[in-house]
Amino acid sequence: MRGPAIGFGTLDVVSTSTPETTSRSADLFARAETVIPGGVNSPVRAFAAVGGTPRFISSAVGCHLTDADDNTYVDLVSSWGPMILGHAHPAVVEAVQRAASTGLSFGAPTAAEIDLAEAIIGRVEPVERVRLVNSGTEATMSAVRLARGFTGRTKIIKFSGCYHGHVDSLLADAGSGLATFGLPTSPGVTGAQAQDTIVLPYNDLDAVRAAFEANPGQIAAVITEAAAGNMGAVAPMPGFNAGLKEVTSADGALLIMDEVMTGFRVSRSGWYGIDGVAGDLYTFGKVMSGGLPAAAFGGRADVMERLAPAGPVYQAGTLSGNPVAVAAGLANLRHADENVYAALDNNAQRLGALIGEALTAAGVGHRVQFAGNLVSVFFTSDPDAPIRDYTAVKSTETWRFAPFFHALLDRGVYPPPSAFESWFVSAALDEDAFGVIADAMPAAAAAAAAATDPQEVS
Ligand SMILES: *Cc1c(COP(=O)(O)O)cnc(C)c1O
Repeated sequence: MRGPAIGFGTLDVVSTSTPETTSRSADLFARAETVIPGGVNSPVRAFAAVGGTPRFISSAVGCHLTDADDNTYVDLVSSWGPMILGHAHPAVVEAVQRAASTGLSFGAPTAAEIDLAEAIIGRVEPVERVRLVNSGTEATMSAVRLARGFTGRTKIIKFSGCYHGHVDSLLADAGSGLATFGLPTSPGVTGAQAQDTIVLPYNDLDAVRAAFEANPGQIAAVITEAAAGNMGAVAPMPGFNAGLKEVTSADGALLIMDEVMTGFRVSRSGWYGIDGVAGDLYTFGKVMSGGLPAAAFGGRADVMERLAPAGPVYQAGTLSGNPVAVAAGLANLRHADENVYAALDNNAQRLGALIGEALTAAGVGHRVQFAGNLVSVFFTSDPDAPIRDYTAVKSTETWRFAPFFHALLDRGVYPPPSAFESWFVSAALDEDAFGVIADAMPAAAAAAAAATDPQEVS
């Protein structure tokens, strides 16, 4: 069972366009399904929302992925964010090799961990202390615990469509992964874990104010994606993040800016570099890991100093600050200079324009939205209406996505395999890559145009 593909077009549309040359990936997927649940180690990789054979990747260099059948693709996923420099960047690979050759893990502190903490603090002004962890999930889980420990309060506000990793208490209405599978939350999350989470519509400050009025002195933190990227790219409306800052500080609650996706990608200082609204706590992952498992949380010194061993809030990790992961993250950040950020922004605009032009030419109603250099395309018959929250995202014509996706994949372009995900450019995209994308777009737009709403088929 690969799970339902409700509302995403039919699997037969998809399978007819799957080339024969994916037989090795198909064999690997069949084998994987016998030993790994769903054949994958993270759900979206299974292509459940788009159907067809997930590509097993054998190698990647620059902006290209190569699969087990030797097909190559222009990569527009970038490992869901980390690979801003492109794959196997020589400086990152060299840093990893050098670190690995001097020991893989010590369970004792290293100088490089200070370098990485300083690099993060140097880029994001409101961050005064940093603790390294192993995944974005761990970062948000720890930040929420710390916020509760610091404030002595229990309730947390999160927004519909925002994803903060698979933390039990934060899985409610959590965007892309769950949306792909049509799940409101997950079995296994208990009522007790969910009851202290208040879920509100994104970009709705009135709802936030009302929640604070209804729960005075009880809300430990508001956690938000600094710019939402896990329901597609949905930037905060002007004043939304600033309003969150105002409401939380007036009540004595903390504002947790989840920059796991946006951090060090949308600018050298992440979304903070774009809107300048200071959170009390921050979470990071993806880019700061260079593609290895590393993540971080940080923020105000007085809050962070409540963490053990300086304070009583417990948080730990056998592999936290792992020397190889830290070396990869540091190399990624050191090479992410102004030229890289200019290339990311430029490539995102160029990609968005290619998508938009092709869909316009094919007569498909759509909106290409950006949150910094995160890009996404929403199929909609009301292209002038900005998509500001999860309700609006879910009402788009997501059934056009699977044929659009497969037409691109068949032509050597690898977009995210879900209508609810942002597209991630790298600085390694070159003229050739944009040529491949431009050549693929008209057929993809035609496939989107030809798609039919499964709910209207009798
Ligand atoms: C990816 C992501 C996470 C989770 O990070 P993992 O490393 O996958 O656990 C948390 N928050 C946001 C905003 C993310 O995009």
